[in-house]
Amino acid sequence: MLHDTCYSHKANQEMAQKLSRTCTTKSKLDSMVYPLSLLSQKSNPVFSGINMSKSPHVAIIGAGFSGLRCADILIQNGARVTIFEARNRVGGRVHQSKVGGRLIDLGPNWIHGTGTNPIAAIAEMTKTTMEDFEGNQVFISMDGSPIDDNTATKISEFVWMTIDEAFKYSNAYKDSIPPERSLLDFFLDQVEKANFTPEEKKWCIETCRLWGAYVGDPIERQSLKFFCLEECIDGNNYFVASTYKDILAYVSRAALQHADIRFNQPITNINSNVQPDPNAPHKTTLTTTTGETHTAPSPSRPSNRQHLLWPLRKGLHLIPPAFWHKNPNDLTTGGVASYSAYERPTFAQFLDPTYTKGPEGILWNQECLSLAALPGDCAHPTLLFYTYGPCATYIVSKVANLNPSSQEYYDFLDDFLRPFYSRLYGYSESSPDCKPLAVMATQWQNDPYAGNGSYCNFQVGLSKGDRDIEILRAGLGPDRGVWFAGEHTAPFVALGTTTGAYWSGERAAGQICQLYGLGRLGLGLERDDSLPSASGKGVVTSVD
Ligand SMILES: Cc1cc2nc3c(=O)[nH]c(=O)nc-3n(C[C@H](O)[C@H](O)[C@H](O)COP(=O)(O)OP(=O)(O)OC[C@H]3O[C@@H](n4cnc5c(N)ncnc54)[C@H](O)[C@@H]3O)c2cc1C
Repeated sequence: MLHDTCYSHKANQEMAQKLSRTCTTKSKLDSMVYPLSLLSQKSNPVFSGINMSKSPHVAIIGAGFSGLRCADILIQNGARVTIFEARNRVGGRVHQSKVGGRLIDLGPNWIHGTGTNPIAAIAEMTKTTMEDFEGNQVFISMDGSPIDDNTATKISEFVWMTIDEAFKYSNAYKDSIPPERSLLDFFLDQVEKANFTPEEKKWCIETCRLWGAYVGDPIERQSLKFFCLEECIDGNNYFVASTYKDILAYVSRAALQHADIRFNQPITNINSNVQPDPNAPHKTTLTTTTGETHTAPSPSRPSNRQHLLWPLRKGLHLIPPAFWHKNPNDLTTGGVASYSAYERPTFAQFLDPTYTKGPEGILWNQECLSLAALPGDCAHPTLLFYTYGPCATYIVSKVANLNPSSQEYYDFLDDFLRPFYSRLYGYSESSPDCKPLAVMATQWQNDPYAGNGSYCNFQVGLSKGDRDIEILRAGLGPDRGVWFAGEHTAPFVALGTTTGAYWSGERAAGQICQLYGLGRLGLGLERDDSLPSASGKGVVTSVD
């Protein structure tokens, strides 16, 4: 699965156990649903017989994709919905901002898998432009020079083949792989066996490490045992070229029109008891910052992936003049070996640089995406850097207290980025066109309402990662009137994604609809929550 980091499932499991045992937590909350009627009616409808004559009143904590979809289904089926949202807007981690005059996604910008993916369907319905970004991946080697096309293709094919093998291996041997074995261990074994020169092997290892930019943490932290749970929906991964804006508008429309949304209402406390007497009304209390009490709970923990956005000076052409894209009319060649990916990159990967350094012990490799390679009007001369792990933590900590419109902020980020972008095709130190017009770093890691930048992945040391998810999915159920939704409770194939969040909200709503004897409008088929299966399940031929 291509994304961010990284709250550990251990943290989730602990939280779920805490919630099922005890009663009070002050944890940060993701979307979660809970029927308000448990508190607002003297006769508790769950425990003293469901009151069918009155539509339930459900509280949802959080207006991210999971909360919004949950609200949508409940509203369609006649429930009253109140949403408590900590921020002053809907969307949660799905959010855009203008950088250098262009609207940019600060959170998700991919749709992972197009086979039976509701977000892809919504993208089509809303005429959102999606781009299947294939090819033109340039690798900048450790000394700052580009690697030629043939070698780059060889490395790239090796990395993707190894990822595929790792999925198969993890699927086949999940129960016996030691919890401390990492994805990097697997890569190192495979590289050792590959028929490459020592230099190519080094490039392969460093390229493999950049898988960390997809998961948000270094791959030595990525559990091999549970790597199978990172597999996502079949089909291509699409970059959302025209941003998630219209998708968000579509997903939020029912809640915005029909729910009572209370913005700027962070929930600070949830109290839920299991009563010894099953017929007694259960009391779950949810407290807002203003001290109001109502309902609800949830988990999370810090993570890492950030965006650094860098739009260049404006362009007048259909494809603006991003200096790193060679003019198609320029017929000069890059020398003996072919460097076409270097001359027109969509992705650039900067392998373990020796030409610039971060603080001691922090891997300084980077990956960026050229938004100048987007189709038509969506193209703009912006580089989107995916920082991750300790490097992201360091950068975020440095800019956290700087004013984004200050020179200091610009200078810090530009000093960090210049060693990288100056390695790209066409850079000239003296050209004003090669000087960033604006720079921006996302601050998800400092955002407690986004799990400090986290999303679901599986880290080394976990022994029951799949079970942790199942426990969270089950929520506290009808006897406590508390359900969890959110990307971390999604079907395995969609964990950590907008699609997963959407499905998880649907599931929680379905459970409430069933409990209250409401309809099933909008629910469609039940989601498949089973483990993702490797192709040729259990049969692994090319790895030991
Ligand atoms: C940098 C980044 C890049 C990503 N890239 C991709 C991608 O390319 N593709 C993809 O599919 N996914 C991606 N993701 C993951 C995706 O954004 C999430 O999986 C999805 O948006 C989660 O939705 P959610 O409803 O579960 O949680 P959220 O979107 O986090 O929503 C939770 C909501 O609850 C609110 N809230 C939190 N605590 C409280 C509280 N105490 N009281 C009241 N309200 C509260 C929050 O303000 C928020 O609105 C990315 C995430 C990040 C951070």
